Amino acid sequence: MSGTAPLDVLVIGSGASGLAAAVSAERAGARVGLATKGAIQACNSAKAQGGIQAAFGTDDSPEQHAGDVFKSSHESADLRLVEVLTGDAQSAIHWLEELGVEFTRENGGYRLARCGGATAKRLLQVGDRTGHAITKALRDEFGAGSGTLFAHSPLRALESAPNGWRATCGAHELEAATVVLAAGGRCFKVALERNELSTNHPNATGEVTQIALEAGAEARDLDELQYHPNGGAWPETMQGYSIPETTRAYGAVLLNADLEEFTDSLGPRDVVSQAIFDEVAKGMGVDTPDGRPAVLLDTTRIAEADAEVSLPYMLRRYRGGGIDPLREKILTYPVLHYQNGGLVIDTDAQTTLEGMYACGEIAGGTHGRNRMMGNSLLECVVFGRRAGRAAAEKASA
Ligand SMILES: Cc1cc2nc3c(=O)[nH]c(=O)nc-3n(C[C@H](O)[C@H](O)[C@H](O)COP(=O)(O)OP(=O)(O)OC[C@H]3O[C@@H](n4cnc5c(N)ncnc54)[C@H](O)[C@@H]3O)c2cc1C
Repeated sequence: MSGTAPLDVLVIGSGASGLAAAVSAERAGARVGLATKGAIQACNSAKAQGGIQAAFGTDDSPEQHAGDVFKSSHESADLRLVEVLTGDAQSAIHWLEELGVEFTRENGGYRLARCGGATAKRLLQVGDRTGHAITKALRDEFGAGSGTLFAHSPLRALESAPNGWRATCGAHELEAATVVLAAGGRCFKVALERNELSTNHPNATGEVTQIALEAGAEARDLDELQYHPNGGAWPETMQGYSIPETTRAYGAVLLNADLEEFTDSLGPRDVVSQAIFDEVAKGMGVDTPDGRPAVLLDTTRIAEADAEVSLPYMLRRYRGGGIDPLREKILTYPVLHYQNGGLVIDTDAQTTLEGMYACGEIAGGTHGRNRMMGNSLLECVVFGRRAGRAAAEKASA
């Protein structure tokens, strides 16, 4: 075991939320350590393709955005957190731009798409590699600062200490005045246990939530896991791939075996997933060549010009597997995607334990029991920034 000088802020996890927290804490003057399970690049955030929500449209407002989040959560979200999420959204986007993220633009403004459950076009994109662009910019910023990276150092134990927290991260014993837990969700692990497909990175295994619960932190809605309505079902190379919701935003619709629409393709995620499960249960689904259940996603309705700007990665992946989604319908079925619930936090992202913060997918409340697409990356940036700043301030108090 190797020790190190006490830190002000120890961040656990190098996805968008952890990186945003680390950058913010350092900007607030803290001595920051960032411990992560694998390489710094390994996370779910980098896999996010669809985009990030923020109310920039002339027919939109943070209040309208908040209303959509609350409705999509079936009125189960924590309204104080929802108001922070949507109220800080524009400033989060400008902060990312300052770090070098270039959102796709058209007609002098952002190119905005409508996502499931939204009453206005609100989804900003960086082509279809939004998560990659955001995490790269944040990693570059963290790397340019004085924070210390502990890669390949998974958190294994965490206990309160006289001056804050003592953490065992891989081979390191670390002490810090405050900790920010940003280790994501657990859908990869649960999918393995259920023998189902998942969109998640193999590091999404949830042990940090367990460690926090054992330390006494409270959680909410942990039973509620989200299925992404459109997992890739065929070809084999695309199984578990999350077909971006922007396909449906740009005109793709779900069809049953009789080529009939059976649901609002842009409804809330849980509603669309359930409609697919029900359609297949009624015998109106189609089978993949390897015998898995599926329905059709008619991607041939997407205009070529929209696909080239907003879906180039998805097109490349499918065409590489021998299927051109602009020429033929593709096979899809819901896959485990997101942990809706998590650790209880306040508007500064502090958990119910003093000096322990949580942000991103590991935290609960912002989306209640059902998240809208595009709000997770936003949550990572909004609450990551708040967590980093608040943790730094507490450490210096
Ligand atoms: C394929 C895919 C597409 C998506 N598309 C979108 C989208 O378009 N828009 C949107 O808003 N959201 C999207 N999401 C959801 C969103 O990307 C994630 O919910 C969000 O990025 C999670 O960020 P995070 O920082 O909380 O966690 P992650 O990005 O998962 O990062 C967690 C970090 O913690 C580390 N870690 C795990 N366990 C430990 C441990 N024990 N010790 C130390 N470190 C640990 C991991 O290695 C990782 O670095 C998508 C998700 C997936 C999987």
